[in-house]
Amino acid sequence: MPLPGAKLLVAKVGEVVFLGPGYCGYGLLGCRQPILWARTAHHRRIALNPHPNEHGYYIAHQATCPDGIRFRKVARR
Ligand SMILES: [Zn+2]
Repeated sequence: MPLPGAKLLVAKVGEVVFLGPGYCGYGLLGCRQPILWARTAHHRRIALNPHPNEHGYYIAHQATCPDGIRFRKVARR
């Protein structure tokens, strides 16, 4: 687990700032899996899968969330 404030590399997004751990969910939506919250260079919140891939890149959780279609609709608001 990185420390809050650590810079993480996210595939297709770039460098983000780690904020803290959490769970996937917006109200009744979301898969409830553990995630990492981070902030992009554009100050948007992004949820990451908690483990980087073999290249050291984190993956945006919404790309793999089993509840992904609804997750994206809500996250875009
Ligand atoms: Zn999810």
